[in-house]
Amino acid sequence: MNVLSSKSFIVSIKKMNEADLLIVYVTEDYGKIACFANNARKSRKRFLGKLEPAMLTNIKFYEKAGMSLAILYEVDSIEEYKNIRKNIDAYISISKMLEITKALVPEKDKNVMIFNLLRNTYLSLDNAVGNNCGEDIILKHELYFISNFLKYLGIFPNFTTCTLCSQKNIDNYFAFSIAKGGAVCNNCAKTVKTINLSVNAIKIINLMVNSNTSIISKLSVKELVLNDCLNFLENILSFYAGNSFKSFQKI
Ligand SMILES: [Zn+2]
Repeated sequence: MNVLSSKSFIVSIKKMNEADLLIVYVTEDYGKIACFANNARKSRKRFLGKLEPAMLTNIKFYEKAGMSLAILYEVDSIEEYKNIRKNIDAYISISKMLEITKALVPEKDKNVMIFNLLRNTYLSLDNAVGNNCGEDIILKHELYFISNFLKYLGIFPNFTTCTLCSQKNIDNYFAFSIAKGGAVCNNCAKTVKTINLSVNAIKIINLMVNSNTSIISKLSVKELVLNDCLNFLENILSFYAGNSFKSFQKI
């Protein structure tokens, strides 16, 4: 039996049978993996309090020949983000991050950038919520996460040139095509469906991918622009996933 070990974050948990769990993790060393936790709901000693979202753990697991699922063997807590779990808005926010991670991060494809993005976003959000931040700061964490998530998956929108004819998008005035994944000049816009995106929204999304998490508190963003950015990015995510995301639905 070859036991593997890695730092990890829970992406989703699903009950299976009476006592078993199917847990999807993003790991530092093996990318996204699905683990079968045998008897986890009864085996309190091994897993109690360690199968929570917003927690960095070290997991040990092994793979069996002929099985696509890894078998979860042991979990140790490394870092907890308790403020996030206590704050409903922050919790909803990370639910979105995890839903898109589950849908769009490929399995068993090591991506340390995505792992670090989750960790840095959790750390920053936990700290902000612990200091009673406003809802706008939570939304800016979402914006930071999604912008960088797209970048690290290689599907960040192209704002710099027309995606169809390569004409330069000077001053960011071009319309945008979700299906083409980028800006479209006035001429080419006659041939594809486009949406308009404000110059400010593009500026802010670009800033998010060129900074660390300290940008979140430094940058002041009007609520209207913030929602503009988030709606736009959500459209891109839905396009790549092929469906809309439950956690993004407005209540
Ligand atoms: Zn063009």
